[in-house]
Amino acid sequence: MADETDRAQCAKPGGDTLFGKIIRGEIPTNFIFQDDRCVAFNDINPQAPVHFLVVPKKPIVQLSQAEEGDASLLGHLLLVAKKCAEENHLSDGYRVVINDGRDGGQSVYHLHIHVLGKRQMAWPPG
Ligand code: 5GP
Repeated sequence: MADETDRAQCAKPGGDTLFGKIIRGEIPTNFIFQDDRCVAFNDINPQAPVHFLVVPKKPIVQLSQAEEGDASLLGHLLLVAKKCAEENHLSDGYRVVINDGRDGGQSVYHLHIHVLGKRQMAWPPG
């Protein structure tokens, strides 16, 4: 947990990210979903028995930099999150998270939606 916080404290927006490399196939990754607008893949450091990421191909840096013109894409990402949650049998519910910026704990500056499931989530989050 401290590692993730440290990474978020040090991470800086700007430039290409490893998610760009994953989307372009430069880092071999097993996509659980992909279409012309986004990909989804399992998190390398899962925080729940099911933990995957939904990532737009468009390199939006973070949610706070999304624009009006991204409205359809943002809605699509949520519907893909829902579809992948169903395919992962998360019928008892799941947590959807977007970390934004340093205080939000964002460590990779390419917008992504976390979906976590198959355990009881707590509130408030850490
Ligand atoms: P953030 O902290 O920016 O909200 O989330 C970034 C997420 O990306 C973290 O949960 C981290 O485990 C995950 N991650 C970082 N590097 C890789 C990678 O190379 N492959 C995959 N599948 N996930 C990664």
